[in-house]
Amino acid sequence: MNGGTPARALHVVIAGGGVAGLETMLALHALAQDRVSIALIVPEPRFWYRPLSVGEPFGVARARHFELSEAAEACGACLTLDSVASVDPEERLARTGYGAELPYDALVLAPGARPEPAFADGLTFRGPADAEAFARLLRTLEDTPSRRRLLFAVPAGVTWPLPLYELALMTARSLRAARRPVELALVSPESEPLALFGARASAAVSELLSELGIAFVAGRSAVAAAHGALALDSGEPLEYDHLVALPRLRGQPIAGIPHDRHGFVPTDEAGRVAELADVYAAGDITTFPVKQGGIAAQQADAVAEAIAADAGALLDPRPFRPVLRGLLLTGNRPAFLRTDLSAENGSVNTEPLWWPPGKIVGRYLSPFLAERAGVAGWREANPPAGAIEVDVDLGTHAARRSSRSASASSSSRPAS
Ligand SMILES: Cc1cc2nc3c(=O)[nH]c(=O)nc-3n(C[C@H](O)[C@H](O)[C@H](O)COP(=O)(O)OP(=O)(O)OC[C@H]3O[C@@H](n4cnc5c(N)ncnc54)[C@H](O)[C@@H]3O)c2cc1C
Repeated sequence: MNGGTPARALHVVIAGGGVAGLETMLALHALAQDRVSIALIVPEPRFWYRPLSVGEPFGVARARHFELSEAAEACGACLTLDSVASVDPEERLARTGYGAELPYDALVLAPGARPEPAFADGLTFRGPADAEAFARLLRTLEDTPSRRRLLFAVPAGVTWPLPLYELALMTARSLRAARRPVELALVSPESEPLALFGARASAAVSELLSELGIAFVAGRSAVAAAHGALALDSGEPLEYDHLVALPRLRGQPIAGIPHDRHGFVPTDEAGRVAELADVYAAGDITTFPVKQGGIAAQQADAVAEAIAADAGALLDPRPFRPVLRGLLLTGNRPAFLRTDLSAENGSVNTEPLWWPPGKIVGRYLSPFLAERAGVAGWREANPPAGAIEVDVDLGTHAARRSSRSASASSSSRPAS
């Protein structure tokens, strides 16, 4: 455990105002307070809450955003609209796209990843920017009386396929309501639906897909799509009238920072960038295979704790230990999915397994977002039985279990 008050505040530069950047800033402010001074560098002034964009085409949710200046002010941070273009680790300088030189004691890289279409044909759903195109596709299907085939494809290498399941489930319900005869299939390299959440979740999601008439084509990687045919790495090509796919993610290399062939940055358990002193990375930019908001936030927490300890805060920094939480929108009751990636003890429930019940879960970010992105009255509400309060107690490290006792790993099928 470290401690003591340093002669001057540690100067921390954070590049990125997405999930990882924001969680790092909120956590550092909470843990280190005036032991750090924070500069937040972002190319655009807003934080986008992208997961809800899957609900936009169905009119059930909207991707929200808020001004980062508000978050920076709450943390006493200095916000600059710019981007980090290169780093000189010897000189401890980050250089920006506009040519400024930013000295740092600790640098946190959280610039996210770039979504690239996996196929030349079809619609790539990257988030809010593609919600309108998906809504148009839905209208076309609703207006077409003849039988059509719509394929949803998870490209090889995509590790967070949940948004595609949400689109498929909600599409099936919409078309069923419109009484349109559309053949639906979801093609994925996974052995079971949402296999990363474990067997219970897979069984529940499998049942949901089959109730809604969505065929699941397991263990197949789509390699190309053209002229109404999806070529697979094995087996016959699948014909389609319409194709929707998730993008592949790629890192955006920053000069002076090591990266793998896809542009992702290698880090250790505390988020330290390999071979560099006082340079950290968190979120989609890292080589950690699962690119997901909750994971980004947990990485950011490990980074913030390591820096806060260096700054003299009284805490034992804990390493990143990935727990995956997913809130699956089904077009009916949502399903809460949770698994400890190191222990593989997945659980699934239609009641919240964490509190507040957002799609992106971060110890510091969730309460911040809950107040700004529409979970009205969550602070006053009682968490349901078994929900883990991941974020409420900002002053301590411990997640609290709901006072009403129940198992957090109860297994119930999402209601159809
Ligand atoms: C449709 C969709 C649904 C999703 N559903 C879920 C879900 O249900 N649950 C979940 O947990 N996750 C979900 N995700 C994933 C989640 O949004 C990402 O994993 C998460 O946003 C990654 O956080 P990040 O901070 O690494 O990157 P981002 O959130 O992408 O933020 C990157 C930030 O860095 C800035 N930036 C870029 N380049 C630079 C630079 N050179 N210098 C400084 N700043 C820079 C950007 O402007 C941005 O502010 C979903 C994503 C999508 C697209």
